[in-house]
Amino acid sequence: MYAMVLERCGEKLKMLERPDPAPADGEVRVKVAACGVCRTDLHVVDGELSDPKLPIVPGHEIVGRIDALGRGVGTLKIGMRVGIPWLGKTCGHCPYCLSGRENLCDHPLFTGYTRDGGYATHVVADARYVFPLPESGNDVADAPLLCAGLIGWRSLQMAGAGRRIGFYGFGAAAHIIAQVARWQGREIYAFTRGGDAAAQAFAKKLGAVWAGGSDETPPEQLDCAIIYAPVGPLVPAALRAVKKGGRVICAGIHMSDIPSFPYSILWEEREVKSVANLTRKDGEEFFAVVPQAGIVTQTLPYPLGQANEALSDLRSGKLQGAAVLVP
Ligand SMILES: [Zn+2]
Ligand SMILES: [Zn+2]
Repeated sequence: MYAMVLERCGEKLKMLERPDPAPADGEVRVKVAACGVCRTDLHVVDGELSDPKLPIVPGHEIVGRIDALGRGVGTLKIGMRVGIPWLGKTCGHCPYCLSGRENLCDHPLFTGYTRDGGYATHVVADARYVFPLPESGNDVADAPLLCAGLIGWRSLQMAGAGRRIGFYGFGAAAHIIAQVARWQGREIYAFTRGGDAAAQAFAKKLGAVWAGGSDETPPEQLDCAIIYAPVGPLVPAALRAVKKGGRVICAGIHMSDIPSFPYSILWEEREVKSVANLTRKDGEEFFAVVPQAGIVTQTLPYPLGQANEALSDLRSGKLQGAAVLVP
């Protein structure tokens, strides 16, 4: 197999040839057809997350077909089309697992962070955390659903049912979740970097009723807002944009420091909440919604060997939609 490997944080990934991994009991090996590039991968590469497994193969938006099985993998079979998400394994017995919050498990493994991920021709996964996908789907188009879609879905659920919803940062996650929000009958307000006319036009094309810079005041007070950009000053900005009782959801795994702000913008029962990881239930719910909402992803494919270029294009903010690596 070939993999793009991060040996030390802050360095470029290197293409390495490795022996084909053998799945242990309870695991499957998947031949990767496509792997999305998520902002979390940038945080791993840049060393912004604590204790990654090193060397590590990043990538947790994996679509492919099973090509080898360990024993005890339930109904999974050779040749099945599957998706592998960020949640790689949970312990099953900590207080969080036992209370339906496996996303907060005390002893988890995360794909592309603490176990090898999908920037590779092959990857091994725990069979219990693999999502069967429809046979007929498009691999590149479906890859971003595995994290941008899934954790985006969890953040949308957490934002509550408010009709006027703001998205701060209009990249891979927002372009998917805006389609879900629109299908739900909500009004979408898109906030981009100041003066980013292309991103604002993209948001309007996807149904936003308003698009502007993150320092602008929207024409209506919002019921809720989701922050997808890893930018701390967006928290007070979003609090100023939501109405009484409004909720601000921070959807990323890492964010720059949040500046201090006056209590008055939090008062009147406004809330700030973060989203961490996903549960398998989130996945089941979201993959049921995908065909109903008619989600169409916008992707930019790169050959696997150009993972470094894909990451730097994501970092520069010039991507519209989602970068996807194709082995
Ligand atoms: Zn646990
Ligand atoms: Zn991700």
